Amino acid sequence: MNLLGLDRAGLVDFMRQMSEPAFRAQQIFPWMHQRGVTNFAAMTNIGKALAERLGERARVSLPEIVTEHLSMDGTRKWVLRLEDGNAIETVFIPEVDRNTLCISSQVGCALDCAFCATAQEGFNRNLTAAEIVGQVWLAEHTLRQRQDGAGRVITNVVFMGMGEPLLNLKEVGPAIRIILDDLGYGLSRRRVTVSTAGVVPHIDRLHEEAPVSLAVSLHAPDDALRTTLVPLNKKYPIAELLEACRRYVARDPRRRITFEYAMLAGVNDSPDQARALARLLRTVPAKINLIPFNPFPGTRFERSTDSVIDAFRDILLASGIVTMTRRTRGDSIRAACGQLAGVVKERTRRVVPIHVS
Ligand code: SAH
Repeated sequence: MNLLGLDRAGLVDFMRQMSEPAFRAQQIFPWMHQRGVTNFAAMTNIGKALAERLGERARVSLPEIVTEHLSMDGTRKWVLRLEDGNAIETVFIPEVDRNTLCISSQVGCALDCAFCATAQEGFNRNLTAAEIVGQVWLAEHTLRQRQDGAGRVITNVVFMGMGEPLLNLKEVGPAIRIILDDLGYGLSRRRVTVSTAGVVPHIDRLHEEAPVSLAVSLHAPDDALRTTLVPLNKKYPIAELLEACRRYVARDPRRRITFEYAMLAGVNDSPDQARALARLLRTVPAKINLIPFNPFPGTRFERSTDSVIDAFRDILLASGIVTMTRRTRGDSIRAACGQLAGVVKERTRRVVPIHVS
């Protein structure tokens, strides 16, 4: 049992199974997540006997860092090897007012979005909660050590790496709770963002699991075009998706959904499409993130020019929607949005059925 993936309730259960009182979970949890200790013997307040018993039954184990790439803009990408030989990627993006960690939720992805490098890798499997939290642990404690232990490093976590988080809610749920936990990484729910291509029924479930910030990969203002870019749209068309978005923020009037929109030259970037997008989002509390398309080998798409992106943004702004163009970060080390590939063993491109229940 890898304790890194147990949320507090899960760790309390585990302690009960070992006939230990619940407060043991309160002791062990911060040792792992806040102090970065993986060795039970070093957890000084739990006693030697318990440390030994834990050592027989459990472990705190992390993915292995294979390589670390540093981009000129300060973005870091880690390639992490998992126990089964698959590799995933995690990206750290420092900014003036925040440090964002972009984490993966699956090995590869089954959704096959036309413009995404991860799709080309196919799908292998879901990550476990321990592997998801392991990415946060590695980034936080590796960087904290380099800063001579001067305080917390990661201020924001986004599920925008490899995979579709809402097709792995069973593991993403506990991972989020650990990231939010005051004895864990202590981030507020506004600082944790789950990005989805639009798995509609699981948008409601995410709200029940943990109502964190939601980003939706929209990329087109109409169903015909969106289905060619995001095949999942066939199953959950735009109207249903926006309905789920409205429900997500309904009980929280200050909140908005972030809509992501990759700018693809000649595909989805015309002024008419900007106006259609503005009409579409009139009835949803929305902000829009325009993402200049990041190319990767073999893609048939091109990035819209800066002037086209500016014109598109200005139309949205004029219609009253908060719109930002996401600055491209980590491009030089293939760490930008949609460029994460990892190493996916036994690729099963497109043959994996998407089960949504
Ligand atoms: N599966 C989730 C999480 C991935 S998040 C989702 O679809 O939302 C990664 C974001 O980058 C998504 O908005 C995705 O659509 C976008 N993206 C994918 N490929 C891209 C590319 N080549 N250039 C720019 N953005 C891309």
